[in-house]
Amino acid sequence: MLISTRVRAWIARRAITAFIATMLFCVPTAFAQRTQLKPGWNLFSVQQDIAVGKENASQAMRQLPLCNAPKIDAYLSQLGMKLVAHLDTHGATYPWEFHCVNDRAINAFALPGGYVFVNRGAIEAADNEAQLAGVMAHEISHVALRHGTNQASKAEFGQGAIGLLGALSGGGVSGALLTQLGSFAAGGVLLRYSRTAETQADISGTQVLYDSGYDPRAMAQFFEKLQAETKGKNPPEFFSDHPNPDHRLERVDQEIDKLGGTPPNAKKDTQEFEAVKREVMNLPVIKKATLGAAGNSGISKPAPPSTNYSSYEAGGFTMKYPDNWKKYGDQDNLAFAPDGGVGNDSSGHGALAYGISVGTQKLQDSNAANALDAATQQLIDGLKRSNPNMKITRQSARVRLNNLPALSTYLSTDSPAGGQETDWIITVVRPEGLVYFVCTAPEVEYSNYDKTFGNILDSVRFK
Ligand SMILES: [Zn+2]
Repeated sequence: MLISTRVRAWIARRAITAFIATMLFCVPTAFAQRTQLKPGWNLFSVQQDIAVGKENASQAMRQLPLCNAPKIDAYLSQLGMKLVAHLDTHGATYPWEFHCVNDRAINAFALPGGYVFVNRGAIEAADNEAQLAGVMAHEISHVALRHGTNQASKAEFGQGAIGLLGALSGGGVSGALLTQLGSFAAGGVLLRYSRTAETQADISGTQVLYDSGYDPRAMAQFFEKLQAETKGKNPPEFFSDHPNPDHRLERVDQEIDKLGGTPPNAKKDTQEFEAVKREVMNLPVIKKATLGAAGNSGISKPAPPSTNYSSYEAGGFTMKYPDNWKKYGDQDNLAFAPDGGVGNDSSGHGALAYGISVGTQKLQDSNAANALDAATQQLIDGLKRSNPNMKITRQSARVRLNNLPALSTYLSTDSPAGGQETDWIITVVRPEGLVYFVCTAPEVEYSNYDKTFGNILDSVRFK
């Protein structure tokens, strides 16, 4: 069909006008409506996020079984950087790294500062590239929103870190804070997010997916699929670091609406993803039990506890423990366990399956009448936050430890050895804070340890 020059010019003008109208009308509204997120309160600097992340990443790389497949790592890095290009880092520059972990548990985690680890299980479970991109967009959002150190800041504040705050205003605090961050890393605080942090990472992840041209529903679809497949039983590890917030899917759908809906040409899958997934499925399978071989302390059924005891002396107390058990950690973070009793879970958290751990939690006021009850409750709440499946199986009861008033509480949660574990917790108030003893063994074997735990606790003598 022939069109006269005048008509062509008219069509062009119309098109330009329509384009400008679209620009004026749609674009600003679309951007104004998307949820704005920014990192929360933080005691630490971005440089400290990077320093602690780097330190823990190199530890994770020594302890975790890596895929050791250059093609898979290159694919993850390329996909990761494509997503990072659409991530709001709030002015910070992170040294992004993406690693494939040869672990079939469906999980992924990101350390502060941009060190991202994706389990092969997550790649195998993803139906398409958009779903994998969704999990990764969620992880890098935790980094950009600095959720790990935000959480550590709150924990630090909760412990009444007046010294730290004082030091902050005086400057030169970096070393002390880093030491502190190190202990948060050891406790897994940097990786176990609150439900609020989860919702934020979901929203930001959805925005990143949308802006990168992927189907923005893919992340939520992946989470939904994980949940449906496990039907609440043995939830995938992902949900223990990333607890499911309420109305997760609804909140994501809301954000997609704010973004203007799913674009018709949104990307779902690529040939590269399918090729990488095939390669991942062909990787040798490393069994959980041998996980520890890489981390030099895997969990396996230990020899029965010896009836001969060794002595341990700390600053504030002495105690005895079976002489075929070993001491782990130091005064602040102490554990006694048999060979095979400790290991690392797949995300690199230290995990005690058999043995006793001892710690001290600072108290606001050790003379308060209800100090023991209040601090014990606080301790249990903290444990529940980091172990979402934890349940109280026997409410706190008054007992005596070395003739001091104490509380005895029984809990149950997932055991790193598989199945459920029993945790018997004894708490007592001392001048240095709430001292707690946590006796742990798999539920099915607990009766074999009950007497040993009793003997250990009976041996405790406070100075
Ligand atoms: Zn998360």
